[in-house]
This record gives sequence, structure tokens and C-alpha cells, in this order.
Amino acid sequence: MPPTLLSKTDLVFIKYGDTTDIDFSRYFVFEDHNGVTLSVNSEIDIYTVGVQSHTLKATDDFGNLTDISFNVEIIATPDTPGLKPYYVDGVLIVNKKHPLPQNYHPNEDLEAGTQVRKLIREMQSLGYDVHDAYSGFRSYELQNTLFTNYSNRDGIEKAETYSARPGYSEHQTGLAFDILQGSSGLLIEVEPEITWIKEHAHEYGFIVRYLEGETDITGYKYEPWHLRYVGDIAESVYQSGLTLEAYLGVSGGDYFR
Ligand SMILES: [Zn+2]
Repeated sequence: MPPTLLSKTDLVFIKYGDTTDIDFSRYFVFEDHNGVTLSVNSEIDIYTVGVQSHTLKATDDFGNLTDISFNVEIIATPDTPGLKPYYVDGVLIVNKKHPLPQNYHPNEDLEAGTQVRKLIREMQSLGYDVHDAYSGFRSYELQNTLFTNYSNRDGIEKAETYSARPGYSEHQTGLAFDILQGSSGLLIEVEPEITWIKEHAHEYGFIVRYLEGETDITGYKYEPWHLRYVGDIAESVYQSGLTLEAYLGVSGGDYFR
């Protein structure tokens, strides 16, 4: 009887350029009657960022064999040589698994900027307490300064709960905007403003990027103020009720440590 698979990991993450041997028994658990050994008979390309398909071979002492298909994703860091911004179906993805290159510096996207100002003006005309100013494009260097300051003040672990590491902030895309409360100038997080934003942002090409209860997928707690410009697909993403990661079928969640 060939080895029986009890549980598997659908996507195995490997750091770019990491030559350490992988212990596949961490990811694939077999019923161990007769000593199961695991091997991958195709070469994992640790120098190509992205998802690759491979086959795991589980062999027992009698030579019985089970093949398991699985995917590996090579995870980059902002200083990975030749790293390019990660587009899926034409949508730029930045999250804790998919950083931007250090030197990616697009400034504020013109169309997105126009749309966010339209959204703000509309909210103001409806009487909502929204600031003229917003927090948009942030360069790698600025995010580096912010994150370093937060880490020095609160420690890295605490800082990571509310601030992205440099290269991992969606604000570096020029497509992300934090909406501010008019009266306080702080990030907007009160009713009725946040419900209006949730229900109408897509009409301007935006999605609320970090949805409530989706931290495992987005890597962030609920941020009612953080909008991401996705243009034409905003309506469809909104109607799906999914995170951008789930909508596009890309990995997310926490940093790969
Ligand atoms: Zn933000």
C-alpha cells in the first residue's frame, strides 16, 4: 500500500536564494507504517520570485510510492536583485509576502489622486467630517525613516503591528490613500464616515484594502481609512466581498520569517 497523506501545505514558502535543505515533513504528514522518505525530483529554482509547481515523492521501505503535487512560492525582499513590482491580472500587489523594490518610486498616481480628491469633495458636500488633506504616496526612504523611528520608540515587534517595513507599504505604490478626519486630522475611523467610505469607495475606483476580520489574508487589522485604487475592477472586488488577495488568488498574511 502506498504511503497515505494525512495533511499537506498547499503553498510552501521559500526565501529567495535560500539554499538550506527543506524539511518537507514539516509540510506533508504521512501515515508512517513502513518508514516514509520524502523527496522532490524537480529542481526548485530559488532564484526566481513567484510560484512554481513541483511533485513530492513519498516512498516507503518497500518501495511503494505516492506522488503529491504542490506549489512553492519564492519570496523576495526589497533588496532582492532584479526584483520587479508584482502584477497579477494587471493589478499591482504589495503585501507582507510581496514587497516592492527599494528603488520603485512612482510618486502619486495621477488618476488615483484625482479620484481620491473627488471622493473627499463628495463626502464634504454631503456634510461628512473629512479633511482636505490625505496621506498618499510614501517613498521607500520615508517609510524606512518612519519604521525606524517607530521601532526605536516601541520595539520592532510592536512597530510591526501598525507600520509596514520599508518596501512593504502599499503607500509606496502611489495608489494607496489614508483618509483623514476633518476636525482632528487623524486617520478616519468613526461613523458615519467609515460606513459611507465602505459603501461608496468603489464608485471612485477604490477598495477598502484591509477588511475587518481578514488579518490572516491581508496581514493587517481592519483599516477603514486605507483606500487602494484599483480602477475598473473596484466594483467587482467590492461586490465579491473578498480581500484583494483572495480576489486575485495571491498569497498574503504575515511576513515570511
Ligand atoms: Zn494607509
